[in-house]
Amino acid sequence: MAQIARSDTIPLETQQGHRLEPASARAFDALVRAYRAEYGEDLDITDSFRPRDVQERIFRDRYRVGNHAGEPGFTRDVRYWNGQAWTRRAGTAAAAVPGTSNHGAGTTVDITGTGGFGGTVYKRLQSLAPKYGFTNDEGRRVDESWHWGRTRSTSYPKTPTYEAGWPVLYPGDQGDDVKALQRELIQRGYDLGTAGADGDFGETTTTAVKAFQRSADLTPDARVGTGTQKALTETKDWFDMATKKELEDVIDAYVKSPAGRKAIAEAVWNTDGVLAAPADTDVKKNPHWGAASFLSAIRSQIVALRKES
Ligand SMILES: [Zn+2]
Repeated sequence: MAQIARSDTIPLETQQGHRLEPASARAFDALVRAYRAEYGEDLDITDSFRPRDVQERIFRDRYRVGNHAGEPGFTRDVRYWNGQAWTRRAGTAAAAVPGTSNHGAGTTVDITGTGGFGGTVYKRLQSLAPKYGFTNDEGRRVDESWHWGRTRSTSYPKTPTYEAGWPVLYPGDQGDDVKALQRELIQRGYDLGTAGADGDFGETTTTAVKAFQRSADLTPDARVGTGTQKALTETKDWFDMATKKELEDVIDAYVKSPAGRKAIAEAVWNTDGVLAAPADTDVKKNPHWGAASFLSAIRSQIVALRKES
């Protein structure tokens, strides 16, 4: 497997500080969630994507140049790298020759607490992990029950779950519910790039969801459950949904046309006196109220609405 760069990986949603290449990251996150749903326990890992320099440092730490198989202080594990034989020191774990590890390819994780090849967690993984493309094939060859890699691509089963009638969405999900979520985000001014509402809960959507969750004082975990769905609904107000561009268009219309002035006045009135203007300010009758104060009033209202939600 080929070594990839850190920039070709994405963070795992379910494991703090770990990264894999995107397809493996989504599949592994899905496996962790399925495992939790099935067994009520979390899966934890100690290792994931390993950059080339780290791989090399580990190898140099555990192996010494020359064939020292069986000599005091050495194991019988001899490998060839850089045109030389290297022998693993006693008391250290095996490490792949730099450039050949699946950790470098960002497809592999080391799972803690498997209990060995016959362990409880190991057996559970044997039945569940292949559905998500992960196997212990490579680990088994080097006697590592913890080393699980995505050895084949698979469209893992997606059983949509619902909380209080809301679809629960995760990074990696696809479909119409994701599209609906993306449209809500775009309406609120979150940038989903050129792909827009494409129904693919990828990295851009993940970033946008987290930003929205932070703005709504929710845990920014990118899991779209009842809390996030409700927050999206409750902030469904024209003022809150308006993007900067929309606001500017509104101001523009207000200043330039009678129809625009009327529309804005009605929008303001319909939101039940939300503007931070003096109670007797009648926008309908007061076209002299300046664009700048209008804009700043709308902006402060947006901030207030977001805090309430
Ligand atoms: Zn490993």
